[in-house]
Amino acid sequence: MIDPDALRRRIAGKRDDVVELTRSLIRFPTVNPPGEGYEECARHLGDRLARRGFEVVYERAEGAVGDTDRHPRWNVVARREGPRAGPTVHFNGHIDVVAAGSGWTVDPFAAEEIDGRIYGRGSCDMKGGIAAAVVAVEALLEIAPDLPGAIEISGTADEESGGYGGVAYLAERGYFSRPRVDHVIIPEPLNKDRVCLGHRGVWWAELETFGRQAHGSMPFLGDSAIRHMGAVLAAFETELFPRLAAKRTDMPVVPDGARASTLNVNSIHGGEAEGYDGLPAPLVADACRLILDRRFLIEERLDTVKAEVRDLLERLAREREGFRYRLTDLFEVVPSMTPAEDPVARAVARAVEQVLTRPAEFVVSPGTYDQKHIDRIGRLPSCVAYGPGILDLAHQPDEYVAVDDLVDAAQVMGLAALGLLTGAAA
Ligand SMILES: [Zn+2]
Repeated sequence: MIDPDALRRRIAGKRDDVVELTRSLIRFPTVNPPGEGYEECARHLGDRLARRGFEVVYERAEGAVGDTDRHPRWNVVARREGPRAGPTVHFNGHIDVVAAGSGWTVDPFAAEEIDGRIYGRGSCDMKGGIAAAVVAVEALLEIAPDLPGAIEISGTADEESGGYGGVAYLAERGYFSRPRVDHVIIPEPLNKDRVCLGHRGVWWAELETFGRQAHGSMPFLGDSAIRHMGAVLAAFETELFPRLAAKRTDMPVVPDGARASTLNVNSIHGGEAEGYDGLPAPLVADACRLILDRRFLIEERLDTVKAEVRDLLERLAREREGFRYRLTDLFEVVPSMTPAEDPVARAVARAVEQVLTRPAEFVVSPGTYDQKHIDRIGRLPSCVAYGPGILDLAHQPDEYVAVDDLVDAAQVMGLAALGLLTGAAA
């Protein structure tokens, strides 16, 4: 029997190690897009795990969106096989970060530690989570080198841009399927007392309306695509938004506002292209383009979600003179939710309760993350997200991760892996 308290003490003793690993990862400015420095960051992780006896492979997602010789999409997968057969537990973290943006009071890639917090782009989302997982696994293997089964850790590309050069690429090659892997924990920042079971669905689409160009002094001679789009927006306001707000899910989505269906108009542009010098030309707009971002619930079906919008557009086409449109799908993901009774969800929840002495909260993310590929491509149902970062800090200026949270989350991940590998969590 392995003493869980001995594991917790071992991890607590690695406080400086988890801090230094987090800081070293932040110093690789793996900004995506375009996807800078993936190879160096992946090798940093891989070299460390190879020294610990992991078998390490590097996979470049050749041909994936964004993969070029200037910005190759490198991924690292490390596997450590135990002496006896058993389940495989996989920790997956994305190594890419979003651009730093403005508003920082510290250097976003210096990884400064100030008052128990490590600041930097990616500290919270999610290099702190990767470091916590690595240190948790190393501690576990130090005190229990003969654990059955296998442990894997991967650092993957492109999560912030859809994951096609990262988890999706690996999933298509069997890295996230049985029998290779049984349980996946993704240390995304969802707060250290929450176990994230999945995410809402997504449908992005481009909507165009068309008109006829004419002189702006005689708009009656043309037909304004912008006014047609205005009719669409009016119908959204009076019909669609109220209908979506009334749909409530049983999924435990956080924050509470995301328990309803939502639609965001990401952008809209009509008429003359922007960026001209001087004054604009007087023109009736012959085209208008809108990007919509619809997030849907596990109780909804993707075809119904699309039909709500299309029915509204078809009605406008019947009732509004000259109304013509084109609706083009850009991106879609169905909702994903691991049952709270699944072994990985139970193992992590139990570990949260042990470490934090309060029950874990099961949540669902308002937006998607790489679990979608593990679910749909890998067909692996046993996957949750659990990590040390504070969700609200992700992608913000002065992003940070608290050192105490890193240590607590590493203890939770270590205990969860121990439970899954020894069957104690079943
Ligand atoms: Zn993330």
